[in-house]
Amino acid sequence: MMRYADVIVPLPLHDSYTYSIPSALESSVRKGCRVLVPFGKSKSYVGIVHTVHTKEPQGYEVKAIKECLDTFPVVTEAQFRFWQWIAQYYACPLGDVMNAALPARLKADKPAKPSSKKNSVATDLDTHIYKESTGCGFHALNKPQQQAFDAIRQSFITKNVTLLHGITSSGKTEIYIHLIRQALSEGKQVLYLLPEIALTTQITERLRSVFGDQMGVFHSKFSDAVRVAVYRKQLSDEPYQLVLGVRSSVFLPFRQLGLVIVDEEHEVSYKQQDPAPRYHARNAAIMLAHQCGAKTLLGTATPSLESFQLAHTGRYGYVSLTTRYLDCQLPKIEVVDIKRLKFQKQMKGIFSPVLIESIGNALTHGEQVILFLNRRGYANFLMCQTCGWVPRCPHCDVSLTYHKKTNRLVCHYCGQAYMLPPSCPSCGEPRLSDVGIGTEKVEQQIHRHFPEATTVRMDIDTAHTRAAYEQIITDFSHHQYDILIGTQMVTKGLDFDNVSVVGILDADTMLHLPDFRSAERTYHVLAQVAGRAGRRNHRGLVVLQTRSADSDIIAHVVHNDYESMFRTQMEERRQFHYPPFYRLINIYLRHNDYSRTEQLAHELGDLLRQTFGDRVLGPDRPAVARVRSMYVRKLMLKIEKQASANKVRSLLFDIQARLLQQPSAHGVQIYYDVDPM
Ligand code: ADP
Ligand code: ZN
Ligand code: ZN
Repeated sequence: MMRYADVIVPLPLHDSYTYSIPSALESSVRKGCRVLVPFGKSKSYVGIVHTVHTKEPQGYEVKAIKECLDTFPVVTEAQFRFWQWIAQYYACPLGDVMNAALPARLKADKPAKPSSKKNSVATDLDTHIYKESTGCGFHALNKPQQQAFDAIRQSFITKNVTLLHGITSSGKTEIYIHLIRQALSEGKQVLYLLPEIALTTQITERLRSVFGDQMGVFHSKFSDAVRVAVYRKQLSDEPYQLVLGVRSSVFLPFRQLGLVIVDEEHEVSYKQQDPAPRYHARNAAIMLAHQCGAKTLLGTATPSLESFQLAHTGRYGYVSLTTRYLDCQLPKIEVVDIKRLKFQKQMKGIFSPVLIESIGNALTHGEQVILFLNRRGYANFLMCQTCGWVPRCPHCDVSLTYHKKTNRLVCHYCGQAYMLPPSCPSCGEPRLSDVGIGTEKVEQQIHRHFPEATTVRMDIDTAHTRAAYEQIITDFSHHQYDILIGTQMVTKGLDFDNVSVVGILDADTMLHLPDFRSAERTYHVLAQVAGRAGRRNHRGLVVLQTRSADSDIIAHVVHNDYESMFRTQMEERRQFHYPPFYRLINIYLRHNDYSRTEQLAHELGDLLRQTFGDRVLGPDRPAVARVRSMYVRKLMLKIEKQASANKVRSLLFDIQARLLQQPSAHGVQIYYDVDPM
């Protein structure tokens, strides 16, 4: 009887395609093996065999598999199960998941050239395998740490997920190390996830000194050859017992996964934005652990509202750590009202007198300073330069985006456009403007005040390569610079001994991004930045310059009051129908013809409203409304948390199919972003 294989092809189309298996390949084509298959008129792709069966497909001519590339499967049963979940939950085809899951070389139809390439693979890999070191970076836990460790182990008896809420420098990493040791001694594997930017040499070396060559590192900045080598090693009989990796390492094969640690669990960068699958690595990791019978530990100084909520309601275990290792105090936070200082003409450029004085003091004592500029994203919003007023959408509780061309304010959630007010409705100032300061400007002004001080900037321009980023960190920690000026990049788990002053230049910029999470994010960032001051030696000082000195969020940061922040934000989320009370799904529509895009987006909106009513918002132009000559429109769906995700997805796919049936829909692409960040 003729045998057929359903093959996943790395294309954003259907889940799989059916091919016939030529008799010569019958014994080799197995689930999980890579095969070369013809596609379209003249193309061929490397696909993954998903199922082998004898059901002859009807209605088209079945093509044959050209070649089988593997003797042993490269995708395990467990991985398939995980891929399937990703594809379902994030509403994308398996081909997209395959694309994200496999390093490029495993998808290439021609095997990598031998000789020269092979050498570079070997050396590349060697640089990432260190010999097991002795002495070693393993510390005994102090009492609060030991208590937390015990509490985590205890909570794992009844809960699959536990949240470790420990302030900066409370010694969470040390606790992870002990948990990892424990898991490895039981023959279990551990996956330790970090956000891209936090996976630095500092943390790698710290873990390396304890776990030596039992640990593999998986980083997207590594060459594809290294990633293939790690992937293959995980398939082998001697896999790494510990993998330290970024979000894509959830796709590695594991045999005995026992523990997943998601460090900095609140980090937005765990969410993959583009391309599909637009998965959240923290949530995916929890599912992976669940499927493997493993436990998950979420660690952070500032939990995401979602995770804290689940801990709050008892779904997750909760363990907190409220003292810093060695009892050194949290920094003193001094709020400076730059709105008032501006009125009184006391600002020295972008610096308040307090900040200038504090920097001067630090420098005299041979201490270092970090200056933080709260800039993220490219959204244009307007702000009254005098009083800090920012226009917001009354329906969506997010700030409005300014469109220069049309001179309108637009809400990127509901699509509503507004006229610009002739003057600030709050203070009457006639001019609202879109200003932002850059790190260069800060550096120039610093040199004017402190000509002797040495400075280094850390932003996407100066630290766009990993090496450059690491170099800045190393140089600064060796005190080759007095002052580090940086954006969000300086907030990520860096541990500098000699920093006594942290200056936050514009605490509110982020507060006004057109995003319902902006308050929560501001809290995360400010609390993390503040945590950089005064580690180890003495109590640090944070000078927090803001135009919203009386806002709740600033008060919560100053008092290190996570719970009040949580309560306030949860109330807003409830009121405006946002997560964690509602699930959001962004629906994107792309087409290369402008008016067709507009028309189809409205038709899609109508179809969606027939089913989902006023849970549908939009269509609207997303921040980036034209991508590779395609026009993009966005619709948003707000779904009650209790609604079945499967039901919603199948309704969406039905609607999509109805739209695509129309001849006018030819060439349109529709895709989803589930739980957008
Ligand atoms: P967190 O991850 O909570 O920010 P870390 O684990 O990085 O905190 O700990 C902060 C500092 O204290 C680190 O330099 C770490 O080496 C040190 N430290 C933490 N716990 C211990 C311990 N039990 N023994 C010795 N040093 C420790
Ligand atoms: Zn709106
Ligand atoms: Zn004003």
